[in-house]
Formats: sequence, C-alpha cells, structure tokens
Amino acid sequence: MPASPIQILNDVFGFKSFRSPQQEIVETVLSGRDAFVLMPTGGGKSLCYQVPALCFPGTALVISPLISLMKDQVDALRENGISAACYNSALGEAEARRVLAQLHAGELKLLYVAPERLLSDGFLERIKQLPISLFAIDEAHCVSQWGHDFRPEYAQLGVLREIFPEIPMIALTATADAQTRGDILSRLGLQGATCYCAGFDRPNIRYSVIDKNKPFSQLTGFLSSRKDEAGIVYALSRKRVEEVAKKLCAAGIKAAAYHAGLPDKERHRVQDAFLKDDIKIVVATVAFGMGIDKSNVRFVVHYDMPKSIESYYQETGRAGRDGLPADALLLFGYGDVAVARGLIGNGGNAEQNRIELHKLNCMIGFAEAQTCRRRVLLGYFGDRLEQDCGNCDICESPPERFDATEDAQKALSC
Ligand code: ADP
Ligand code: MG
Repeated sequence: MPASPIQILNDVFGFKSFRSPQQEIVETVLSGRDAFVLMPTGGGKSLCYQVPALCFPGTALVISPLISLMKDQVDALRENGISAACYNSALGEAEARRVLAQLHAGELKLLYVAPERLLSDGFLERIKQLPISLFAIDEAHCVSQWGHDFRPEYAQLGVLREIFPEIPMIALTATADAQTRGDILSRLGLQGATCYCAGFDRPNIRYSVIDKNKPFSQLTGFLSSRKDEAGIVYALSRKRVEEVAKKLCAAGIKAAAYHAGLPDKERHRVQDAFLKDDIKIVVATVAFGMGIDKSNVRFVVHYDMPKSIESYYQETGRAGRDGLPADALLLFGYGDVAVARGLIGNGGNAEQNRIELHKLNCMIGFAEAQTCRRRVLLGYFGDRLEQDCGNCDICESPPERFDATEDAQKALSC
C-alpha cells in the first residue's frame, strides 16, 4: 500500500504535523484536482507539492525560476533520501543527458525544470510518453505582469494545461494582490483550481509604534518588563547596532550585538547563545534572523524604520512563531523618513526609485496610522480584516478624534 501523506511527512521529512492548510492542499492534489496556493514566505509551500510527488507513482515536474532555488531544494530533498534532480542551463551537456536518462528510466520522483528548458528542445514532446504525476509551478507570480518579477517564459506555461489536461497542477506564490492572482489563474488555465489563501495575519503579534524622539527610557522600560524573554532589536547599520547595544548595556540591559562586520566566530557565538536562550536580547542588522529557526522569540523591536512593509512584515514575523503572544514595536521619528528617502535613488533607475519611494511611503503610512495597525498591514497585502484587531496600540488606546467642525464653528462665532 502506498504511504499516506502523514507517514511521508513523518518518515521522509521528519516533521510531526502539517501546518494549516498544507494537509488540505496535499489532499486536493492527490484527488487529481488543481490547486492555487497563496502563502507567505516561509509558510511551507514546498511540502504542498513534495508530499504528493512522493505519494503518486511517476515523476513530478517542478517549474522554478531560479537556478539557486532549484539547487537548494534538490540538495535538501536528496538529504532526505529522495531522488530528485535539476534540469536547467547550469548543467553541462553530459549532465543534462544523464538527467534525461534518469527521467526516462523512471528514477526521479521530482525533477526541477527551468521554464525555458521545459519549453524548448522537444522537452514537452518527450514527457508526453512519460508517467508525469504532477506539475508544480513555484513562484507563480512570475507568470503575471502585475507581479513583481514577471518572466516572459513563465507566461507561456499555459500550454501545460492545454497539452496535459489530465495531469494535476499546483501553482504557488507569496504574492498577494488580487489583480495578480486573477492573472495567474487565467494565464495558467487554472480557473477551476481550488484556491488556498493561508492569509498573512499573525494574530498573536501585537503591533505598536512609539515616538523615537521620546526618551530612551521608553525602550529600556519595554525591555526590562520582558526580562526573561528572548527578543531581537533591529537597527539599520552596523554602526547603529553597536551604538544601540552599548546604550542598552549602559542602561543595565544585557544585549549582544550581531552584524556582518563581526568575525565569524563571534557571530556564531551570539547566534548559538541566542538559540539556547543564554543570550536574551540581540541587537542586529536584518541579516540576523534569516534562517534562524527559534520559535519563542517574544518581541521584535525596530529601532530604525524598515524601507518597506514587506521587510517589516518579514522581520516582525520572526516573533511568536510558537503562536503565543508576542510584540512588534517600531520606534518612529521623522529623522528616519529623511534617512530612508536619502537611501533611495543611489544608482537605481527611475522606475525602480519610484517603486521604492512608493513602498517607503506605505511604510510611513503604517507608522503614522490612526486606525487599526493590523488592518493597514494586511490591507497592504490585499487581505481584509472583518473587524479592528483589538491587539495593537491604536485599538487599545484609540487617538482622540479632533473635531474640526466644532473648532471651526467656534472660530467663526467669535
Ligand atoms: P515557502 O516556500 O512557503 O517560503 P518553504 O516550503 O521553503 O516555505 O518552508 C519554509 C520552512 O518551513 C522550511 O524550513 C520547511 O522545512 C519548514 N516547514 C514547512 N512545513 C513544515 C511542517 N509541516 N512542519 C515543520 N516545518 C515545516
Ligand atoms: Mg518557496
């Protein structure tokens, strides 16, 4: 009897349980239906096609835009004992031939293919003869001109649905906006797909913003009331990291510095000590946290404002992965706006600068929001909250509304 998805998850990948909604997605694909998956980065999209690929007989084809991404995934799969390979322009001729031989011999459970390879040299003709179990289109926003990374070869992937109407297809992306979504579905011929939107909300994270120009004791107060909890304080540059760490230590709060300018040994020491809870607070540049899998980070402080809501979301997302209450605190002052604007336009082209400025303005909008912060944050990604969240500084103490009409009346009457 073939192994069940949960057995494969446990035995092959070594994970205890599916994250919501991975299991439903896997079941949809296994039942032969198409699926469209919208899930934030780090949410766990890969397993949504890797598990079905191992349940099905035959080979799953994964279309992926970047050679480096493909390689990482294939290496990780092989480490778990799964037979997988890449087929892209980085392969030498002999290697490419070997991969094709493996494919024909039915030796591969997953083959990662670059779109230009899929669409050239009779590759599609070739796979018509083979037991292909599934097509997975990773980073599917590349299909759409509305997305942030349009790739013309991706736009042609619609032929797959025409040539192979029987083979289930799953498209996955972290890009959220509605226009892009619709475009992806129609270009891939996936109008009948079941859509899974994992949503971007992290309800256990409490968002708040404080005025940076108020005394430093605001921040030290926040930190000392969370004495035994682990947290990250992000700052913009190496120099700032050093400064803030020093100031905190001077105020009696133990904090270690982490940035790319430190020796490897010191960085590893800080990282390990943080993971083991020997160091509670790390002041760091954004390089800290990528690839760190620590579920009990209780707070993320931004000492300096990030340049976009995407960055802010990703960085604050490192807090509270265990689902328990966590804090995201942003220090905001108008000095930050000037610094961030100053960083735009160094070398980029005009179109790029325009996009960066737009992103920065959205971030400022979040910092200055007078309405539920979670609404602003999720709204940016195209998600809607039914009600105000009740778990941000604005919801907890709404700003007093300034009644302009009354004032104007007073002014007129005297
Ligand atoms: P995405 O493609 O959505 O950005 P990935 O598929 O790369 O995310 O997964 C992100 C991380 O989450 C990986 O380290 C992966 O191993 C881990 N992960 C995914 N699903 C689970 C799960 N059910 N249990 C534990 N870890 C998981
Ligand atoms: Mg991915």
